[in-house]
Amino acid sequence: MQENMIPLEEARAIVLDHVALLDTTVVPAWRAVGLPLAEDATTDIDLSPFANSAMDGYAVHASDLAEASSQAAVVLDVVGHEAAGHVFDGEVKPGQAVRIMTGAPMPAGADAVVKYEIVEVLEGDGNEGSKVSFHAPASVGDNVREAGLEAHAGEVVMQAGEVVTAAGAGLLASAGCAEVRVHRAPVVGILSIGTELVDPSTVPARGQIRDANSSVLLAAAIQAGAEVRFGGIAPDDEASIAQAVLLLVQTCDFVVTSGGASAGDYDYVTALARREGEVLFDRISMRPGKAITFGLLHGVPFLGLSGNPAAAAVGFEMLARPAIRKMLGHTAFERPVQTAQVLHDVTKRQERRFYDRACVSRDADGKLQVRSAKSQNSALLGTMHRANCLLMVPEGMRGYSAGDEVPCVRIDLPEGAVI
Ligand code: AMP
Ligand code: MG
Repeated sequence: MQENMIPLEEARAIVLDHVALLDTTVVPAWRAVGLPLAEDATTDIDLSPFANSAMDGYAVHASDLAEASSQAAVVLDVVGHEAAGHVFDGEVKPGQAVRIMTGAPMPAGADAVVKYEIVEVLEGDGNEGSKVSFHAPASVGDNVREAGLEAHAGEVVMQAGEVVTAAGAGLLASAGCAEVRVHRAPVVGILSIGTELVDPSTVPARGQIRDANSSVLLAAAIQAGAEVRFGGIAPDDEASIAQAVLLLVQTCDFVVTSGGASAGDYDYVTALARREGEVLFDRISMRPGKAITFGLLHGVPFLGLSGNPAAAAVGFEMLARPAIRKMLGHTAFERPVQTAQVLHDVTKRQERRFYDRACVSRDADGKLQVRSAKSQNSALLGTMHRANCLLMVPEGMRGYSAGDEVPCVRIDLPEGAVI
Protein backbone atom coordinates (compact mmCIF):
# COMPACT_ATOMS: atom_id res chain seq x y z
CA MET A 1 0.00 0.00 0.00
CA GLN A 2 1.31 3.46 -0.88
CA GLU A 3 2.43 6.15 1.56
CA ASN A 4 2.35 3.85 4.62
CA MET A 5 -1.44 3.68 4.44
CA ILE A 6 -2.86 0.97 6.63
CA PRO A 7 -6.31 -0.61 6.26
CA LEU A 8 -9.06 0.69 8.54
CA GLU A 9 -9.40 -2.65 10.34
CA GLU A 10 -5.72 -2.53 11.28
CA ALA A 11 -6.02 1.08 12.43
CA ARG A 12 -9.05 0.27 14.56
CA ALA A 13 -7.29 -2.73 16.11
CA ILE A 14 -4.31 -0.51 17.02
CA VAL A 15 -6.58 2.11 18.60
CA LEU A 16 -8.56 -0.50 20.56
CA ASP A 17 -5.30 -2.09 21.72
CA HIS A 18 -4.24 1.20 23.27
CA VAL A 19 -7.36 1.97 25.26
CA ALA A 20 -8.35 0.11 28.39
CA LEU A 21 -11.54 -0.40 30.34
CA LEU A 22 -11.87 2.43 32.82
CA ASP A 23 -12.32 2.10 36.56
CA THR A 24 -15.82 1.47 37.84
CA THR A 25 -18.33 3.59 39.68
CA VAL A 26 -21.72 3.00 41.26
CA VAL A 27 -24.83 4.69 39.85
CA PRO A 28 -28.60 4.31 40.29
CA ALA A 29 -29.84 1.48 38.03
CA TRP A 30 -31.81 3.93 35.86
CA ARG A 31 -28.70 6.06 35.33
CA ALA A 32 -26.98 3.03 33.83
CA VAL A 33 -29.34 2.97 30.84
CA GLY A 34 -27.33 2.40 27.67
CA LEU A 35 -24.26 1.25 29.64
CA PRO A 36 -22.87 -2.25 30.03
CA LEU A 37 -22.88 -3.56 33.61
CA ALA A 38 -19.40 -3.94 35.09
CA GLU A 39 -20.46 -6.92 37.21
CA ASP A 40 -23.27 -9.48 37.36
CA ALA A 41 -26.47 -8.31 39.08
CA THR A 42 -28.12 -10.88 41.34
CA THR A 43 -31.60 -10.84 42.83
CA ASP A 44 -31.90 -11.20 46.61
CA ILE A 45 -35.51 -12.44 46.44
CA ASP A 46 -37.69 -14.55 44.18
CA LEU A 47 -39.19 -12.45 41.39
CA SER A 48 -42.03 -12.27 41.97
CA PRO A 49 -41.68 -13.18 45.68
CA PHE A 50 -45.15 -14.83 45.82
CA ALA A 51 -47.68 -16.41 43.50
CA ASN A 52 -50.16 -13.70 42.56
CA SER A 53 -53.26 -13.00 40.60
CA ALA A 54 -53.03 -11.94 36.95
CA MET A 55 -56.60 -10.56 37.07
CA ASP A 56 -59.08 -8.75 39.26
CA GLY A 57 -61.50 -11.50 40.29
CA TYR A 58 -62.04 -14.31 42.80
CA ALA A 59 -59.47 -16.78 44.11
CA VAL A 60 -61.10 -20.21 44.30
CA HIS A 61 -60.56 -23.95 44.44
CA ALA A 62 -60.76 -24.96 40.78
CA SER A 63 -62.26 -28.30 41.86
CA ASP A 64 -65.32 -26.44 43.29
CA LEU A 65 -66.19 -25.22 39.80
CA ALA A 66 -65.70 -28.55 37.99
CA GLU A 67 -69.46 -28.86 37.28
CA ALA A 68 -70.24 -25.15 36.82
CA SER A 69 -72.12 -24.28 33.61
CA SER A 70 -74.62 -21.75 32.34
CA GLN A 71 -77.43 -24.14 33.35
CA ALA A 72 -75.93 -25.13 36.72
CA ALA A 73 -74.21 -22.23 38.46
CA VAL A 74 -71.98 -22.89 41.47
CA VAL A 75 -72.35 -20.47 44.38
CA LEU A 76 -69.42 -19.75 46.74
CA ASP A 77 -69.16 -17.73 49.96
CA VAL A 78 -66.79 -14.76 49.85
CA VAL A 79 -64.69 -14.97 53.03
CA GLY A 80 -62.27 -12.12 52.46
CA HIS A 81 -60.66 -9.73 50.03
CA GLU A 82 -57.21 -8.68 48.97
CA ALA A 83 -56.41 -5.24 47.70
CA ALA A 84 -53.13 -3.37 47.28
CA GLY A 85 -51.30 -3.73 50.58
CA HIS A 86 -54.16 -5.69 52.18
CA VAL A 87 -53.49 -9.43 52.42
CA PHE A 88 -55.99 -12.18 53.34
CA ASP A 89 -54.18 -14.30 55.94
CA GLY A 90 -56.72 -17.11 56.28
CA GLU A 91 -57.07 -20.20 54.17
CA VAL A 92 -59.64 -20.53 51.41
CA LYS A 93 -61.64 -23.68 52.09
CA PRO A 94 -63.79 -25.61 49.60
CA GLY A 95 -66.98 -23.71 48.99
CA GLN A 96 -65.25 -20.40 49.62
CA ALA A 97 -63.77 -17.62 47.49
CA VAL A 98 -61.66 -14.52 48.18
CA ARG A 99 -62.01 -11.33 46.19
CA ILE A 100 -58.56 -10.55 44.73
CA MET A 101 -56.91 -7.72 42.81
CA THR A 102 -54.24 -8.05 40.11
CA GLY A 103 -50.81 -8.65 41.64
CA ALA A 104 -52.14 -9.57 45.10
CA PRO A 105 -50.74 -12.79 46.62
CA MET A 106 -52.74 -15.98 46.09
CA PRO A 107 -54.34 -16.84 49.42
CA ALA A 108 -53.53 -20.24 50.92
CA GLY A 109 -55.79 -22.98 49.60
CA ALA A 110 -56.87 -21.21 46.40
CA ASP A 111 -55.43 -22.52 43.11
CA ALA A 112 -57.18 -20.47 40.41
CA VAL A 113 -58.55 -16.99 39.79
CA VAL A 114 -61.81 -16.33 37.93
CA LYS A 115 -61.99 -12.88 36.43
CA TYR A 116 -64.46 -10.46 37.94
CA GLU A 117 -66.36 -9.83 34.70
CA ILE A 118 -67.74 -13.38 34.49
CA VAL A 119 -68.72 -13.72 38.15
CA GLU A 120 -72.23 -12.78 39.26
CA VAL A 121 -72.63 -11.18 42.70
CA LEU A 122 -75.83 -12.69 44.16
CA GLU A 123 -75.76 -11.11 47.61
CA GLY A 124 -73.76 -8.29 49.22
CA ASP A 125 -71.11 -5.96 47.74
CA GLY A 126 -68.85 -8.72 46.45
CA ASN A 127 -66.52 -8.61 49.47
CA GLU A 128 -66.65 -10.59 52.76
CA GLY A 129 -70.12 -11.96 53.49
CA SER A 130 -71.24 -11.91 49.87
CA LYS A 131 -72.38 -14.84 47.77
CA VAL A 132 -71.04 -15.10 44.22
CA SER A 133 -72.05 -17.36 41.39
CA PHE A 134 -69.88 -19.03 38.71
CA HIS A 135 -71.17 -20.25 35.36
CA ALA A 136 -68.12 -21.98 33.93
CA PRO A 137 -65.42 -24.38 35.15
CA ALA A 138 -61.89 -23.20 35.99
CA SER A 139 -58.58 -25.06 35.80
CA VAL A 140 -55.82 -25.14 38.40
CA GLY A 141 -53.43 -22.26 37.67
CA ASP A 142 -55.92 -20.14 35.71
CA ASN A 143 -54.89 -16.46 35.97
CA VAL A 144 -52.22 -17.26 38.54
CA ARG A 145 -48.66 -15.97 38.09
CA GLU A 146 -46.26 -18.35 39.77
CA ALA A 147 -43.68 -17.17 42.30
CA GLY A 148 -40.18 -16.87 40.84
CA LEU A 149 -41.45 -16.65 37.26
CA GLU A 150 -38.76 -14.11 36.39
CA ALA A 151 -35.95 -15.38 38.63
CA HIS A 152 -35.22 -17.12 41.92
CA ALA A 153 -33.35 -15.62 44.86
CA GLY A 154 -29.61 -15.77 44.25
CA GLU A 155 -29.90 -15.93 40.47
CA VAL A 156 -28.14 -13.52 38.11
CA VAL A 157 -30.76 -11.32 36.45
CA MET A 158 -28.30 -9.37 34.30
CA GLN A 159 -24.77 -10.34 33.38
CA ALA A 160 -21.64 -8.19 33.33
CA GLY A 161 -21.39 -6.66 29.86
CA GLU A 162 -25.14 -6.62 29.25
CA VAL A 163 -26.32 -3.17 28.25
CA VAL A 164 -28.99 -1.81 30.58
CA THR A 165 -32.27 -0.92 28.88
CA ALA A 166 -35.16 1.03 30.46
CA ALA A 167 -36.97 -2.25 31.16
CA GLY A 168 -33.70 -3.66 32.47
CA ALA A 169 -33.43 -0.77 34.95
CA GLY A 170 -36.81 -1.89 36.31
CA LEU A 171 -35.68 -5.50 36.49
CA LEU A 172 -32.62 -4.39 38.47
CA ALA A 173 -34.82 -2.36 40.82
CA SER A 174 -37.10 -5.38 41.42
CA ALA A 175 -34.02 -7.47 42.13
CA GLY A 176 -32.93 -5.02 44.85
CA CYS A 177 -30.05 -3.67 42.73
CA ALA A 178 -31.06 -0.05 43.22
CA GLU A 179 -27.47 0.86 42.40
CA VAL A 180 -25.22 -0.91 39.94
CA ARG A 181 -21.57 -0.85 39.02
CA VAL A 182 -20.59 0.51 35.58
CA HIS A 183 -17.38 1.80 34.04
CA ARG A 184 -17.03 5.53 34.37
CA ALA A 185 -17.42 7.63 31.23
CA PRO A 186 -14.11 8.45 29.56
CA VAL A 187 -13.20 12.12 29.49
CA VAL A 188 -12.52 13.00 25.87
CA GLY A 189 -10.64 16.19 25.10
CA ILE A 190 -11.40 18.00 21.84
CA LEU A 191 -9.19 20.63 20.22
CA SER A 192 -9.60 22.52 16.94
CA ILE A 193 -6.43 23.55 15.16
CA GLY A 194 -6.17 26.25 12.52
CA THR A 195 -5.25 29.93 12.42
CA GLU A 196 -8.23 30.53 10.12
CA LEU A 197 -10.76 29.28 12.70
CA VAL A 198 -13.05 31.51 14.72
CA ASP A 199 -15.63 30.78 17.35
CA PRO A 200 -19.10 30.00 15.89
CA SER A 201 -20.57 33.01 17.71
CA THR A 202 -18.55 35.47 15.64
CA VAL A 203 -18.88 36.48 12.00
CA PRO A 204 -15.72 35.38 10.18
CA ALA A 205 -13.60 37.99 8.46
CA ARG A 206 -12.31 37.27 4.95
CA GLY A 207 -10.12 34.16 5.05
CA GLN A 208 -11.56 32.99 8.35
CA ILE A 209 -14.05 30.18 8.85
CA ARG A 210 -16.16 29.16 11.81
CA ASP A 211 -14.95 26.23 13.85
CA ALA A 212 -17.50 23.55 12.96
CA ASN A 213 -15.44 20.51 13.88
CA SER A 214 -15.40 21.01 17.61
CA SER A 215 -19.22 20.92 17.55
CA VAL A 216 -19.16 17.76 15.43
CA LEU A 217 -16.66 16.04 17.68
CA LEU A 218 -18.09 17.18 21.03
CA ALA A 219 -21.53 15.98 19.95
CA ALA A 220 -20.22 12.69 18.59
CA ALA A 221 -18.23 12.08 21.78
CA ILE A 222 -21.33 12.67 23.92
CA GLN A 223 -23.34 10.37 21.65
CA ALA A 224 -20.73 7.67 22.13
CA GLY A 225 -21.10 8.00 25.92
CA ALA A 226 -18.08 10.16 26.78
CA GLU A 227 -17.72 13.19 28.98
CA VAL A 228 -16.14 16.02 27.04
CA ARG A 229 -13.60 18.73 27.65
CA PHE A 230 -13.19 21.42 25.00
CA GLY A 231 -9.66 22.71 24.65
CA GLY A 232 -10.66 25.59 22.35
CA ILE A 233 -9.06 26.67 19.10
CA ALA A 234 -5.29 26.61 18.71
CA PRO A 235 -3.63 28.59 15.88
CA ASP A 236 -1.19 26.84 13.56
CA ASP A 237 1.93 27.46 15.57
CA GLU A 238 3.96 24.79 17.20
CA ALA A 239 4.02 26.25 20.70
CA SER A 240 0.29 26.99 20.91
CA ILE A 241 -0.63 23.53 19.66
CA ALA A 242 1.79 21.84 22.03
CA GLN A 243 0.48 23.83 24.96
CA ALA A 244 -3.19 23.15 24.21
CA VAL A 245 -2.73 19.45 23.44
CA LEU A 246 -0.53 18.77 26.45
CA LEU A 247 -3.03 20.51 28.73
CA LEU A 248 -5.78 18.18 27.51
CA VAL A 249 -3.57 15.14 27.81
CA GLN A 250 -3.13 15.86 31.53
CA THR A 251 -6.84 15.68 32.28
CA CYS A 252 -8.35 13.39 29.62
CA ASP A 253 -8.53 9.69 28.87
CA PHE A 254 -8.47 10.27 25.11
CA VAL A 255 -7.67 13.36 23.07
CA VAL A 256 -9.00 14.20 19.61
CA THR A 257 -7.77 17.11 17.51
CA SER A 258 -8.93 18.22 14.10
CA GLY A 259 -6.92 20.19 11.59
CA GLY A 260 -3.23 20.30 10.95
CA ALA A 261 -2.92 16.56 10.46
CA SER A 262 -1.97 16.47 6.80
CA ALA A 263 1.52 17.05 5.49
CA GLY A 264 1.07 20.78 4.85
CA ASP A 265 3.54 23.46 5.82
CA TYR A 266 1.70 24.33 8.99
CA ASP A 267 0.87 20.88 10.24
CA TYR A 268 2.49 20.36 13.59
CA VAL A 269 0.29 17.77 15.25
CA THR A 270 1.99 14.64 13.98
CA ALA A 271 5.38 16.21 14.64
CA LEU A 272 4.34 16.98 18.22
CA ALA A 273 3.18 13.41 18.75
CA ARG A 274 6.47 12.12 17.36
CA ARG A 275 8.51 14.41 19.56
CA GLU A 276 6.58 14.05 22.82
CA GLY A 277 5.23 10.54 22.41
CA GLU A 278 4.81 7.80 19.91
CA VAL A 279 3.04 7.73 16.54
CA LEU A 280 1.41 4.37 15.78
CA PHE A 281 0.01 5.28 12.37
CA ASP A 282 -0.46 8.44 10.33
CA ARG A 283 -2.23 7.33 7.13
CA ILE A 284 -5.31 5.19 6.57
CA SER A 285 -6.43 3.68 3.31
CA MET A 286 -9.77 5.44 3.51
CA ARG A 287 -11.66 8.32 1.90
CA PRO A 288 -12.63 10.57 3.51
CA GLY A 289 -10.10 10.54 6.32
CA LYS A 290 -6.76 9.46 4.88
CA ALA A 291 -4.67 11.79 7.04
CA ILE A 292 -5.28 10.45 10.53
CA THR A 293 -2.57 10.29 13.14
CA PHE A 294 -2.87 8.03 16.15
CA GLY A 295 -0.40 7.68 18.92
CA LEU A 296 0.31 8.13 22.58
CA LEU A 297 1.17 11.47 24.13
CA HIS A 298 2.52 11.13 27.64
CA GLY A 299 0.82 7.73 27.64
CA VAL A 300 -2.60 9.11 26.63
CA PRO A 301 -4.19 7.91 23.38
CA PHE A 302 -4.31 10.74 20.91
CA LEU A 303 -6.18 10.91 17.59
CA GLY A 304 -5.31 13.69 15.14
CA LEU A 305 -8.02 14.05 12.49
CA SER A 306 -7.87 16.05 9.31
CA GLY A 307 -9.62 19.40 9.39
CA ASN A 308 -12.03 18.66 6.57
CA PRO A 309 -15.29 18.45 8.50
CA ALA A 310 -16.74 15.31 6.91
CA ALA A 311 -13.37 13.59 7.11
CA ALA A 312 -13.17 14.47 10.81
CA ALA A 313 -16.69 13.13 11.36
CA VAL A 314 -15.96 9.84 9.56
CA GLY A 315 -12.59 9.47 11.30
CA PHE A 316 -14.23 9.94 14.69
CA GLU A 317 -16.98 7.46 13.82
CA MET A 318 -14.51 4.82 12.68
CA LEU A 319 -11.84 5.19 15.37
CA ALA A 320 -12.75 7.37 18.36
CA ARG A 321 -16.26 6.01 18.85
CA PRO A 322 -15.07 2.38 19.16
CA ALA A 323 -12.37 3.54 21.59
CA ILE A 324 -14.91 5.32 23.80
CA ARG A 325 -17.15 2.26 23.69
CA LYS A 326 -14.32 -0.02 24.72
CA MET A 327 -13.43 2.20 27.72
CA LEU A 328 -17.09 1.98 28.79
CA GLY A 329 -17.08 -1.82 28.57
CA HIS A 330 -19.04 -2.27 25.36
CA THR A 331 -18.02 -5.26 23.27
CA ALA A 332 -19.87 -4.44 20.03
CA PHE A 333 -17.92 -2.04 17.82
CA GLU A 334 -19.33 -2.67 14.36
CA ARG A 335 -22.30 -0.76 13.05
CA PRO A 336 -24.68 -3.06 11.18
CA VAL A 337 -23.86 -3.44 7.49
CA GLN A 338 -26.81 -3.74 5.15
CA THR A 339 -26.86 -4.66 1.47
CA ALA A 340 -28.91 -2.38 -0.76
CA GLN A 341 -29.30 -1.84 -4.49
CA VAL A 342 -27.41 1.26 -5.58
CA LEU A 343 -29.45 3.62 -7.75
CA HIS A 344 -26.54 5.03 -9.79
CA ASP A 345 -23.00 4.27 -10.87
CA VAL A 346 -20.30 4.83 -8.27
CA THR A 347 -16.82 5.55 -9.56
CA LYS A 348 -13.69 5.40 -7.52
CA ARG A 349 -10.54 6.99 -8.83
CA GLN A 350 -8.20 5.87 -6.09
CA GLU A 351 -7.16 2.57 -4.59
CA ARG A 352 -8.24 3.64 -1.07
CA ARG A 353 -11.48 2.34 0.45
CA PHE A 354 -14.31 4.82 -0.04
CA TYR A 355 -17.05 5.58 2.41
CA ASP A 356 -19.58 7.67 0.52
CA ARG A 357 -22.24 9.53 2.47
CA ALA A 358 -25.52 8.00 1.37
CA CYS A 359 -29.10 7.24 2.28
CA VAL A 360 -30.71 3.84 2.40
CA SER A 361 -34.47 3.72 1.87
CA ARG A 362 -37.13 1.29 0.64
CA ASP A 363 -38.83 1.51 -2.73
CA ALA A 364 -42.59 1.02 -3.19
CA ASP A 365 -42.12 -2.78 -3.11
CA GLY A 366 -40.15 -2.63 0.12
CA LYS A 367 -36.79 -3.32 -1.54
CA LEU A 368 -33.75 -1.63 -0.01
CA GLN A 369 -32.08 0.94 -2.21
CA VAL A 370 -29.26 3.39 -1.62
CA ARG A 371 -28.39 6.74 -3.11
CA SER A 372 -25.13 8.62 -2.49
CA ALA A 373 -25.09 12.31 -1.74
CA LYS A 374 -24.48 14.27 -4.96
CA SER A 375 -21.23 15.74 -3.65
CA GLN A 376 -18.74 13.80 -1.58
CA ASN A 377 -16.67 16.93 -0.96
CA SER A 378 -15.35 16.49 2.55
CA ALA A 379 -15.86 20.18 3.35
CA LEU A 380 -19.64 19.54 3.34
CA LEU A 381 -21.38 18.66 6.59
CA GLY A 382 -25.01 18.75 5.37
CA THR A 383 -24.50 15.53 3.42
CA MET A 384 -23.07 13.87 6.52
CA HIS A 385 -25.96 15.22 8.60
CA ARG A 386 -28.51 13.71 6.20
CA ALA A 387 -26.71 10.41 5.60
CA ASN A 388 -28.00 7.31 7.35
CA CYS A 389 -25.22 5.15 5.98
CA LEU A 390 -21.76 5.14 4.48
CA LEU A 391 -21.73 3.30 1.17
CA MET A 392 -18.53 1.28 1.10
CA VAL A 393 -16.37 0.67 -1.96
CA PRO A 394 -13.51 -1.57 -0.88
CA GLU A 395 -9.87 -1.38 -1.88
CA GLY A 396 -9.33 -3.28 -5.11
CA MET A 397 -12.68 -2.25 -6.63
CA ARG A 398 -13.17 0.53 -9.14
CA GLY A 399 -16.75 1.24 -8.16
CA TYR A 400 -20.24 -0.05 -8.82
CA SER A 401 -22.79 0.02 -11.61
CA ALA A 402 -26.37 1.12 -11.04
CA GLY A 403 -28.33 -1.90 -9.85
CA ASP A 404 -25.45 -3.56 -7.99
CA GLU A 405 -26.03 -4.81 -4.45
CA VAL A 406 -23.62 -2.81 -2.29
CA PRO A 407 -22.60 -2.74 1.40
CA CYS A 408 -23.92 0.17 3.48
CA VAL A 409 -22.65 0.85 7.00
CA ARG A 410 -25.70 2.02 8.96
CA ILE A 411 -24.34 4.86 11.07
CA ASP A 412 -27.86 5.57 12.35
CA LEU A 413 -28.21 2.16 14.02
CA PRO A 414 -26.50 0.96 17.18
CA GLU A 415 -23.48 -1.31 17.05
CA GLY A 416 -24.52 -4.94 17.25
CA ALA A 417 -28.10 -4.27 16.07
CA VAL A 418 -29.58 -7.15 14.08
CA ILE A 419 -31.08 -5.98 10.79
P1 AMP B 1 -6.30 20.95 7.67
O1 AMP B 1 -6.47 19.54 8.11
O2 AMP B 1 -5.83 21.85 8.77
O3 AMP B 1 -5.40 21.01 6.46
O4 AMP B 1 -7.73 21.50 7.23
C1 AMP B 1 -8.39 21.03 6.08
C2 AMP B 1 -9.59 21.90 5.77
O5 AMP B 1 -10.53 21.82 6.83
C3 AMP B 1 -9.27 23.38 5.62
O6 AMP B 1 -10.08 23.88 4.58
C4 AMP B 1 -9.67 23.97 6.95
O7 AMP B 1 -10.01 25.31 6.86
C5 AMP B 1 -10.86 23.12 7.33
N1 AMP B 1 -11.00 23.05 8.77
C6 AMP B 1 -10.00 22.78 9.63
N2 AMP B 1 -10.45 22.80 10.90
C7 AMP B 1 -11.77 23.10 10.83
C8 AMP B 1 -12.78 23.28 11.81
N3 AMP B 1 -12.52 23.14 13.11
N4 AMP B 1 -14.02 23.58 11.38
C9 AMP B 1 -14.29 23.71 10.07
N5 AMP B 1 -13.37 23.54 9.11
C10 AMP B 1 -12.11 23.26 9.46
MG1 MG C 1 -5.12 23.66 8.84
